[in-house]
Amino acid sequence: MKTLTRSTFLVALLLAGLAKPAGAQAPAAAGPGVEAAFLAILVNPKVTKALEDIKADDDRAFAEQKRITEIPAPPYKEQLRAEYFLKRFQELGFKDASIDPEGNVIALRKGSGGGRPKLVVSAHLDTVFPEGTDVTVKEKDGVILAPGIGDDSRGLAALLSLIKSLNGNSLATVGDVMFVGTVGEEELGNLRGVKALFRDHADIDGFVSIDGLGITRVVNQATGSHRYEMIFKGPGGHSFQEFGLPSAIHAMGRAIAKISDLQTPSDPKTTFTVGTVSGGTSVNAIAAEARMTVDMRSDSTEELLKLEARLLDHVKQAVVEENARWKSDKLSVEIKLIGERPAGIVAMDSPILQATQRAVTVLTRTPRVTFAGSSTDSNLAMSLGIPAVTIGGGGEGGNWHSRNEWYRPVDAYFGPQNALLTVLVLAGLDGVSKPALAVRQGK
Ligand SMILES: [Zn+2]
Repeated sequence: MKTLTRSTFLVALLLAGLAKPAGAQAPAAAGPGVEAAFLAILVNPKVTKALEDIKADDDRAFAEQKRITEIPAPPYKEQLRAEYFLKRFQELGFKDASIDPEGNVIALRKGSGGGRPKLVVSAHLDTVFPEGTDVTVKEKDGVILAPGIGDDSRGLAALLSLIKSLNGNSLATVGDVMFVGTVGEEELGNLRGVKALFRDHADIDGFVSIDGLGITRVVNQATGSHRYEMIFKGPGGHSFQEFGLPSAIHAMGRAIAKISDLQTPSDPKTTFTVGTVSGGTSVNAIAAEARMTVDMRSDSTEELLKLEARLLDHVKQAVVEENARWKSDKLSVEIKLIGERPAGIVAMDSPILQATQRAVTVLTRTPRVTFAGSSTDSNLAMSLGIPAVTIGGGGEGGNWHSRNEWYRPVDAYFGPQNALLTVLVLAGLDGVSKPALAVRQGK
């Protein structure tokens, strides 16, 4: 009975969604492939049961999320967490799951369609927190506090809950689904995990990343970023005896003043910041060296490159001015690119966006999906022209990338439920629906 009620309810929602076009930010109405797949999938009793199982798995998934959080995964040192994740993949039935040479944990779930389309569903293993960070999970007034508790422990836990319901209900897909715990998503990892993944698997047709929390926010734009380290070098000397020499710190100050006054568009959102500074050796010395790191981001490659050109000009000009001030030529700057993430966008009428948007609408009974730009593992797929989307793992949280990161498991099961529907529509449910995801030609 429960099953019947649930599926009747879903059909009613679906029809309501059909009768009324979704909100202003919604993509074009789902194409016939996506719509037909939803109609067939939502009335399937196994799917209904799988959705119920995910809800029932909520507490266990939350406990899993906390457990994952307490296994440290600093950039380039994700191995401990990767080994745990591999063990979980194996326990869920993937005897052939493995860790690739880059450190990604991979489990392939074969479909009935001979390997295509191939859809990746992933979450990232790494955190931004350095070795030695206290990753103990603490609870205060119903809020869970721990570095990385949401980003991306929630995505990893949601991924495992999704697999549990797929396997537990023997839901056979047409296309292959590859589950991946990636390394190197954050900061200086520079997407090294997904770079290796797409290099090693040329036949990936679509990419879903579970990163972030709320499911009504869907990332379909890759915010590109360029990051630099600038090292200012001068002769250095005593502040009194050798007064008159150019200073590395003064030159850097000039550069920062110029950068601070840069103007960038809000649409496409384009940003910059000098993130860290260091330098000098003593209060009574003209600094011989000063360093800063600079982060620039944009939803548009064109704007990013424009900003970059102006910013680098300012840095070089600051050196010229510091040398001129002291009639010297002894000061120089070394400019090092330390991070580069491509920008990209997925078209609103792409089946991957339609499927996600439709799934969110069905689950939350709200047509309001916000499409946003962000910097995630999906960047790489988007820059390669491979359909990709980043969806939330479920729940609420904040203070990302800080030691005070917090999380509350409010309707957390929406995360894996959303992933389940999206996966089934895109990969196709054997004997029930065709894959909405197209096989990329020539790959
Ligand atoms: Zn993340």
